[in-house]
Amino acid sequence: MGLFSKPIKTLDDLFVHLLQDIYYAEHQIAKALPTMIEGASNTQLREAFQSHLQETQGQISRLEEVFRMHGVEVQGVTCEAIDGILKEARHVMSDVGDPDVLQAAMLASAQAVEHYEIARYGTMIALARQLGRRDCASVLEQTLAEEKATDEKLSRLATSSINREAA
Ligand code: FE
Ligand code: FE
Ligand code: FE
Repeated sequence: MGLFSKPIKTLDDLFVHLLQDIYYAEHQIAKALPTMIEGASNTQLREAFQSHLQETQGQISRLEEVFRMHGVEVQGVTCEAIDGILKEARHVMSDVGDPDVLQAAMLASAQAVEHYEIARYGTMIALARQLGRRDCASVLEQTLAEEKATDEKLSRLATSSINREAA
């Protein structure tokens, strides 16, 4: 499977491509989260990962809904960016020895994931509106709100406890 399932000629092609890209990315995130949950010795961090795994499964269903609404086949394409971010997260997890620093490192990796998703969902919502697909945009907005809330939760965790404990 290549990076592009078909040539991108129109804005509609780009929207579909981004949908396929994030569909793949959400699956990789859902696969990675159980390892993050296992590695999270900090209770609040573990709970944040657990609840985001539930949300991620719902986000995958929402994407399938958008594929159907837009009349295209449900299909993923390789997202090199998420593969890279998750690969880096795995390396960090195996490299950091101190358990408190490890929590801060895992939190940092998780925020990189959320920021990628926020960037992508933001663009897809703008494209959906441009294409006259307010229906698709409103489904994607629900997911964007969850990604932003997760990012904010992680930021609060970082400043309230995790970074301090690692210091
Ligand atoms: Fe997500
Ligand atoms: Fe991507
Ligand atoms: Fe997320």
